[in-house]
Amino acid sequence: MRVAPTFDGLRSGPRHIHVHGHRGARGILPENTLDSFRFTFDIGIRIIEFDILATSDGTPVITHNPCLMPFSTRTEDGTWLEGNGPLIYESTYSELSKFDVGGLQPGTDYASRYPDQAFMTGLKIPRFDTLCELVNEPGYQDIWMNVEIKSDPRHPENTPPIPAFVEHILRVVFDKRVSKRIILQSFDWRILHECARQAPDIPRSYLSYAPKPYAPMAVNVYEGSPWMDGLSLAEQGNSIPALIAADGGRVWSPYHEDLNTEDLAAARKHNLVVNIWTVNESWDIDRMIDLSVDGIITDYPGRVQRRLLERGLTWLPPDNQGTDMGSAEKIAGGQT
Ligand code: MG
Repeated sequence: MRVAPTFDGLRSGPRHIHVHGHRGARGILPENTLDSFRFTFDIGIRIIEFDILATSDGTPVITHNPCLMPFSTRTEDGTWLEGNGPLIYESTYSELSKFDVGGLQPGTDYASRYPDQAFMTGLKIPRFDTLCELVNEPGYQDIWMNVEIKSDPRHPENTPPIPAFVEHILRVVFDKRVSKRIILQSFDWRILHECARQAPDIPRSYLSYAPKPYAPMAVNVYEGSPWMDGLSLAEQGNSIPALIAADGGRVWSPYHEDLNTEDLAAARKHNLVVNIWTVNESWDIDRMIDLSVDGIITDYPGRVQRRLLERGLTWLPPDNQGTDMGSAEKIAGGQT
């Protein structure tokens, strides 16, 4: 039987790099759904990344945007939302569970980004506690969860007050006894500081997205950034890894194009685990393998498996390969 590795087991080794299924396996199944998570586990991936928000009644749910999105949401009778739906934070779970998030709306930009994603019907936004019950089932007890808490300092009205938000999530974590198998991550480092106050032993992952000429989403690491909760890069020689380590973080999770060898070396010096998002193209995956990052977060976990195998590597540490898959030699039909 496989058992969950300790936190240090999330580091890469000479023969393996970890794969995190992003929102399950967004490239091929509807994101942040139990179907997508189950599929990811069943192809042998042992870490999933997903997004958490909270409902008006304090229930942590697995979904990415602060409101229901028209490109991925149908009502009970199968019609697409015409515009943004209700805020998650202003809905009860009972209200949210009436919506179907099993497919992407034809003709939308978002749908065009994921042409291979299966179209399914009848999929609900999952509750976080339901996923925790799934990973406590036999066969899934070695799964780690990379839990992204969605929060935006520019829009505090979209989420509960931070102490309550973190408390809602941690209540589930401790009730379901998964605290030794999770990383808590956020772009909003105010959230991470609250996690440190309420559950100092759970590893915290600092998501980063550096300033760039064209930034399709909010950059969060620069001097005076509201996302950094008062931390100063200048005080750490403008080194993000040094700043995270000084702040008590154990994981750095940068955008893949932001990563360079100098920062990676600094992260190694500070003993940080380095998980990179969101790496989907083969040439980008190869670059991350060349750098020997610890974890590759991807919408296409099968594609990363194949790139690793091409290089004689696998996605599981040596002590967690079980008997079914994960060994490059076994899969490649070698002599062992
Ligand atoms: Mg995420």
